[in-house]
Amino acid sequence: MTPSQSLLSIACLMSAASALAQEKVLNIYSARHYPTDEVMYSDFSKATGIKINRVDADDAGILARLKAEGAASPADVILLVDAARLWRAEVDGLFLPIQSKVLEEAIPANLRAKTADKGGTAWFGLSTRARVVVFDKLRHNKTDFDSYEKLADPKFKGQLCIRSGSHPYNLSLFGAMTEHLGPQKTEVWLKGLVENMARSPKGGDTDQIKGVAAGECGVAVTNTYYLARMMRSTNPADKAVTEKIGVVFPNQSSWGTHVNVAGGAVARHAKNTDNAVKFLEYLASPAAQNHFANGNNEWPVAKGVSFDNPALKAMTGGSFKSELLPISAVGMNQIKVQQMLDRVGFK
Ligand code: FE
Repeated sequence: MTPSQSLLSIACLMSAASALAQEKVLNIYSARHYPTDEVMYSDFSKATGIKINRVDADDAGILARLKAEGAASPADVILLVDAARLWRAEVDGLFLPIQSKVLEEAIPANLRAKTADKGGTAWFGLSTRARVVVFDKLRHNKTDFDSYEKLADPKFKGQLCIRSGSHPYNLSLFGAMTEHLGPQKTEVWLKGLVENMARSPKGGDTDQIKGVAAGECGVAVTNTYYLARMMRSTNPADKAVTEKIGVVFPNQSSWGTHVNVAGGAVARHAKNTDNAVKFLEYLASPAAQNHFANGNNEWPVAKGVSFDNPALKAMTGGSFKSELLPISAVGMNQIKVQQMLDRVGFK
C-alpha cells in the first residue's frame, strides 16, 4: 500500500465511521409532557446505542413547526397526545406511512391510521386515557354525573371546573359528543357547561381536581392519568385531595366513556427512518407498554400486554366501557366545535 493509498483508506474509514455515527441518532418531536417517560428513552438508547435528541412542545406547536420546517425538518419521530391531532397531522401529510409487521401485529386496527392505499400506516396509537368526571363526595354521588350530559344540568349551576375548551383533550371530547348528540344538541350542552362553571377555565386537569378538593368546584373533568398520579403520590397533600373526591366513568349505560389516544409516527422528512421505526416498535413492546401503564398511568394498547396499576384498577373497579368512534370523525368535528365554543363563550 502506498502512502497515498493508505491515506485514502483512512479517509474511507473515517467517512464510514461518521456515517455510522449519524445512523445512531434519532430526533423526536414530542408532546408527551410526562417526566416518567425519561426511563423509556434511556432504556431504548441503552439497548440500541441510538442517541435520542428530543424537542418538547404541545401538539399544535409540533404541527406548526413541522409545516414551517418542511423538507428541512430534522424530526424523525413525532409523538402526540391527542387522536384528533394525529388525524390532522396525517391529513396534512406530515407523517411518513410505514410498514412494520411488529406494529401491525401489536396495535389493534381501530387504534392506528387506516392503511388504505398509502403504502403503509401513517401513525400508531400507543396508549389511551379516559376523560372522566370527579366530584365532591360530600355534595354528590356517582349517579349525579353518570353521563356527560348531566354536567349541563342547571342544578349544578356554579359548580363545574374544566380547563380551556380549546385544549385538545376537550376539543376531542366535544367532537365525540357532536358525533353522539348531533351539533345542535351539543351546542346547547356546551352552553349549559358554561352556565354551570364555577370559574372561568384556567389551569390543567390537576388544577380542576384540586379545585374540587378545595371546595371551589363541586364537579370537574379530568384525564384519568392525572387522577391516578395523585392517587399513587406519596405526598400527603395529594392523598388528602383524592380522599375528598369521587370519580365517575360517564355514559356506561350508553355509548361509553370518552377515550383519547396518544400515539406516534415517523415524520414525513425523517432522515433516520430505520431508527424511527425501531423506536416505535420499542414503544409497542411489553416493556414500554408496561411503562405507559405504571409510569404514566395510561392504558397500554398492545395486544396481550398485562399490567398491574392499583390506581387504574381502583378507579374502574376492573374494567369500563369505552366509546368506540372513528378517530377521523372526531378530528373532522374540531373546527365545528371551536366555532360552537366561540358562540357560547366557552373560553
Ligand atoms: Fe396531559
